[in-house]
Amino acid sequence: MKRIVILGAGESGTGAALLANAKGYDVFVSDMAAIADKYKTILVDNNIAFEEGQHTEALILNADEVVKSPGIPDKAPLIKQLIEKGTPIISEIELASRYTKAKIIAITGSNGKTTTTLLTYHLLKKAGFNVGLGGNIGDSMAKQVINDTFDYFVLETSSFQLDNLYQFKADVGMLLNITPDHLDRYDYKIENYSASKFRIIQNQTANDYFITHVDNEIVAKLLPLYKVDANLLEISLVRKVPLGAFLNGDEIKFKVGDNAFELSVNKLPLQGKHNIANIMAAVLGTEAIKNLSGITTQFDYQELLSDFQNVAHRLEQVAEINGVTYINDSKATNVDSVFYALDAMTKPVIWIAGGVDKGNDYSQIKQLVKDKVKLLICMGKDNSPLEDYFLDVIDNIISTDNLEDAVNAAYENAEIGEVVLLSPACASFDLFKNYEDRGDKFKSRVHGLQSSSLNVANKPKTENRKLEN
Ligand code: ADP
Repeated sequence: MKRIVILGAGESGTGAALLANAKGYDVFVSDMAAIADKYKTILVDNNIAFEEGQHTEALILNADEVVKSPGIPDKAPLIKQLIEKGTPIISEIELASRYTKAKIIAITGSNGKTTTTLLTYHLLKKAGFNVGLGGNIGDSMAKQVINDTFDYFVLETSSFQLDNLYQFKADVGMLLNITPDHLDRYDYKIENYSASKFRIIQNQTANDYFITHVDNEIVAKLLPLYKVDANLLEISLVRKVPLGAFLNGDEIKFKVGDNAFELSVNKLPLQGKHNIANIMAAVLGTEAIKNLSGITTQFDYQELLSDFQNVAHRLEQVAEINGVTYINDSKATNVDSVFYALDAMTKPVIWIAGGVDKGNDYSQIKQLVKDKVKLLICMGKDNSPLEDYFLDVIDNIISTDNLEDAVNAAYENAEIGEVVLLSPACASFDLFKNYEDRGDKFKSRVHGLQSSSLNVANKPKTENRKLEN
């Protein structure tokens, strides 16, 4: 019996264990940390052998194949040993894709994966396709293919997952953009990270589709170097493209094969240029699936999109208090996503930013900050990278080390017609559990302000560097 070892018992690892178990493998699950009760119960109920808090080499190195959680880096000693032994190491999606006949739409990029995945899923589902959602979002794909009931899957695919895909093929692949992120996992080389993202086209044939955003500098530079066998559909906000989608005034023009149609920008359910690109990608993905399925009906995309609601923490409007709008963009953990957030703002901005700086280069947003930001409120344990960079860019910077002080400072300084934007450009781990925790705490503090006007006696102990210096 083939022995399959699964490293990491989160959603994807547990799903992989269930699938491998259902397909008759000898399965062993090992997690270096404690396994969440929810997943432990599943493993116990299904008689799947597991260990937690350790990796027992003797039980792992005898594997015929290993399914690795995307969170475990290749540099981990155990992974190095497996690589040396030549043991195949795959991702959960690779395993799952062996057991489904469903057509797969795989979506990758540095930013916009979740939004575009949900948009594509929404469009397909509402148009009547029997479609499942997986990858980095919701239930694992592996679990969902045990009974293989879906005809299509939309998968949010991170670069870490792409790294361990070999036979996997996306019938429709999307590469939304490439900007520096996670470089610590790629020897600090953008080429390595980009190569990982471009694995989205591996194994594609002339029957498949590849959708990508050609305004993105790195994509534009690398695209000619890769041999794209699939039908290429390009996205651009600044120039005409032969096949794909581009912006023409207030209209998005689409062309897929012989089918050409338009969509008005003014009636879209999401704000910001980045979301126009995301919507273009999702519509093109749906058209590609239509073609692959031999469907010729013209869909009413305006109607299909009309009730789409994005997940929380992405340019999420929280409240309006005394004529000031509060926006939660806690998911903006890198500079590029802040670029799009600021770009989408039409009113003066009080910008709350900071956290764990991953070696950010702020030059990309310097001009936008100069033009749009009235006050920067830093919120982090170490605010010096932000402060040092923006000291000469904007007139007012306030330094805080907790959310309450940051929100209070925003409240005190905001005037009617302005926007308070939490868009941190940084990871959240210095003060919060994760970006959701940061966004939730921001929202609850803002709602607190809404229900009670701020007690002047509780004025925040904030320091204004510009005024002091
Ligand atoms: P991901 O899943 O790739 O992290 P999300 O859809 O969760 O992407 O969005 C993450 C952040 O990036 C949000 O702050 C959002 O406003 C911003 N964003 C979304 N789409 C794009 C895009 N196409 N380009 C740049 N930034 C984007």
